[in-house]
Amino acid sequence: MKYYAKPLNRLINEMNRLPGIGGKTAQRLAFHILSMDDRDAFALADAIREAKTSMRYCSVCGNLTEEDPCVICSDEKRDRSVICVVESPKDVVAMEKIREYRGLYHVLHGVISPMDGIGPEDINIKDLITRLQDEEVQELILATNPTIEGEATAMYIARLIKPSGIRVTRIAHGVPVGGDLEYADEVTLLKAVEGRREL
Ligand SMILES: [Zn+2]
Repeated sequence: MKYYAKPLNRLINEMNRLPGIGGKTAQRLAFHILSMDDRDAFALADAIREAKTSMRYCSVCGNLTEEDPCVICSDEKRDRSVICVVESPKDVVAMEKIREYRGLYHVLHGVISPMDGIGPEDINIKDLITRLQDEEVQELILATNPTIEGEATAMYIARLIKPSGIRVTRIAHGVPVGGDLEYADEVTLLKAVEGRREL
């Protein structure tokens, strides 16, 4: 039996594909959107379209950006001797919020996870190696999440980079184990960076 007209069904299905949105929430959101003013609903649709067409990944660090290279990579005042390696663009935001870190970033876009069939070649490690050859980097801070996969990824990169003589450090476990960088408060994250240890 069909409960919804086709366009409503389509909207519910699209909502349902978003992370953390189950069937009930998808239905509630879809009904809410339909009850909105045309102007507000279209503004939402336009915002999605604009963000999708104007945002891209920085060709240097992999961060989400409107301009390529991104504002961080092109900022002359940033410390080019340090690169902080993170899993996702959300983690760059978390790090930037503590306002203490002045180095550069490298976004992996994932972690090594053999269980999910994700190997080193499936994440943005190759570009990191290339960067290390070109740039005057002295330290690599591995700030992947303290999950099993995050730790394994940090270990993999550390083993790969250490022979080059670049200092490799890992952020301290101020970030709760199994927790995400993006949910750590600023003080916790600052302590994690300050307490980083040599690998
Ligand atoms: Zn960049």
